[in-house]
Amino acid sequence: MANEPRLATNAEIEAAARMIVAAEYPIALTGAGMSVESGIPPFRGPGGLWTKYGEPPMNGYQIFLADPKKGWEDRIRRQDDELFAPLKVAKPNAGHTAMAELEQMGVLRFVITQNVDDLHRQAGHQALAEIHGNWKLVRCLECGRRFKSEEIRLDTLPPPCPRCAGMLKADTVSFGEPIPADVLRQCAEHAAHADLVILGGTSATVYPAAGFALEVKERGGKLIEVNLYESEITPLCDASLRGGAANVMPRLVAAISEIRRARLS
Ligand SMILES: [Zn+2]
Repeated sequence: MANEPRLATNAEIEAAARMIVAAEYPIALTGAGMSVESGIPPFRGPGGLWTKYGEPPMNGYQIFLADPKKGWEDRIRRQDDELFAPLKVAKPNAGHTAMAELEQMGVLRFVITQNVDDLHRQAGHQALAEIHGNWKLVRCLECGRRFKSEEIRLDTLPPPCPRCAGMLKADTVSFGEPIPADVLRQCAEHAAHADLVILGGTSATVYPAAGFALEVKERGGKLIEVNLYESEITPLCDASLRGGAANVMPRLVAAISEIRRARLS
């Protein structure tokens, strides 16, 4: 790979750690870069799944609604595709674990993830909004409740919601589908409190997720980027920590712990 950027220095990590310790309400926004570090190929770009298999239709949601039975049949047939294989074996990486640790330390208040891979949950993260859904869940289009896919009987398609008999759909948000209102509301509430956003493995250019980070910045909050490469958001960032989240986040946690220890002693 050409021009592999240098990793963030310890001094850069420490400066960012000080910003985080000084913040009242840090949140994080995470994206595909964190999944890639767990072996999940990105959708776009070289080697991307959509590059290989073609982009899903931009009106996928409308196609599903027009024939939900066929939508479910397609979904069931594709469970063994290469598209799902990496998701089935992926494990949280050190970046996910470090973020969960930051939450347990009472530092990180909320994570908005654009990833559908379930890895923040598997790492033990509690306060989390999966803005594009979770591939392991299905969601009722009537009442909005979510269920684990394996708990849903598939003898009638589309399967009915066990609670309200409404129509179930994969929780992952299709093109053309509105982001579920409960998720958006949660994101908006936490973003409204936030004065610092850690951007993990995301160029923060996909809306609505990007809007939450920009809103915090516009209010005078800080943005800390953790990413291998420069991106469109880099010029707006108060600190840019080069490296994957699996490298940078554990170092950030160590630096934050050190600063807090020094303050107590
Ligand atoms: Zn329901």
